[in-house]
Amino acid sequence: MKALSYYGKNDVRVVEKPRPVIEHPEDAILRVTTAAICGSDLHLYHGLVPDTRIGHTFGHETVGIIEEVGNQVTQVKTGDRVVVPFNIACGRCFQCRLQMYSLCESANPYNEMGAIYGYSHTTGGYDGAQAEYVRVPFANTGPRKIPNEISDEQAVMLADIFTTGHFGADIADIPEGGTVAVFGAGPGGLFAMKSAKQFFGAGRVIAIDKVPYRLQMAAEQCGAETVNFNEVKDVVGHLKEMTDGRGPDSCIDAVGLEADGSVPQAMQGTFFLQAGAPTALIWALHAVRPGGTVSIIGVYGPPFNHFIPFGWAMNRNITIRMGQTPVLRYIDDLMERTRTGEIDPSFLVTHRLPLEQAPHGYEIFERKQDNCVKVLLKP
Ligand SMILES: [Zn+2]
Ligand SMILES: [Zn+2]
Repeated sequence: MKALSYYGKNDVRVVEKPRPVIEHPEDAILRVTTAAICGSDLHLYHGLVPDTRIGHTFGHETVGIIEEVGNQVTQVKTGDRVVVPFNIACGRCFQCRLQMYSLCESANPYNEMGAIYGYSHTTGGYDGAQAEYVRVPFANTGPRKIPNEISDEQAVMLADIFTTGHFGADIADIPEGGTVAVFGAGPGGLFAMKSAKQFFGAGRVIAIDKVPYRLQMAAEQCGAETVNFNEVKDVVGHLKEMTDGRGPDSCIDAVGLEADGSVPQAMQGTFFLQAGAPTALIWALHAVRPGGTVSIIGVYGPPFNHFIPFGWAMNRNITIRMGQTPVLRYIDDLMERTRTGEIDPSFLVTHRLPLEQAPHGYEIFERKQDNCVKVLLKP
């Protein structure tokens, strides 16, 4: 089959690989019909995630048709059209029973971080779905059948980025009618803005980014007020001014380890794997009002342990909440809201490419060319 494969920093290619097979009675094999490229895939692409091996296939945002199932799979059958959550979770361990599917104790043999499709051996070493086929472990737990009313393009957002934005808003403790500042108007940030306003009672949403077309989408699609950080001298001061001098009630970091889209050259050698300045997080911790909450959904690699203004946060009673989204906690509710038309999560799709053009997809997404917000691959 054809599959996107990693060959080193900034080098992904679509090559022939063996088709995955059932390795465990609870496995399913999925024929991929839509796979998205995620902002967090760019960290892999930039070689910043530990233990990303040559030949590894990326892709954790997946819709497809069940092609084959193991003899213990009862929840899906051949021919079902499903969306697959990005976390691989067993559904029955200590963490899964707490609905912390992103910390499943059974899926990642290497450490206690939980497992993710196509995200290096740090998160389990499972090949991802930017390919014609993908193996789906624990197929009784993860895949969700898609109602006929929902398109592939809508459903694929539920695998990660819609649920992740929604999770970011959920853990931001937004007070009714309160103000939330979202750093990063990429896909995760846009969904955080939408959910904050539509589902978590935010009165005002402020989007902070430097890319004009993304800020425009935040304003038009999510009702956000916008701040272009290249145009204001002092982002924190500006946010205080917009909020009676006090600061937003909640701040969401939807950027992660590569704030500003680039890793300073000087840091790439010595501090490899810790690269990038946590600029968005530092702004968020300074801007949030005393007693407010900072929620972090932007991805930081596990060895990323830079200094953040901890004392300033402690003495202002800031709550900091973060993590990888336990998708299964939200997916059924958001699927239903999508089915009824309460929300159309496909609003941010800008590019649809055949799998063969995946390397081009990574390039335009990385460089924010051609007004790119979300790239879908169609194997
Ligand atoms: Zn993703
Ligand atoms: Zn589990």
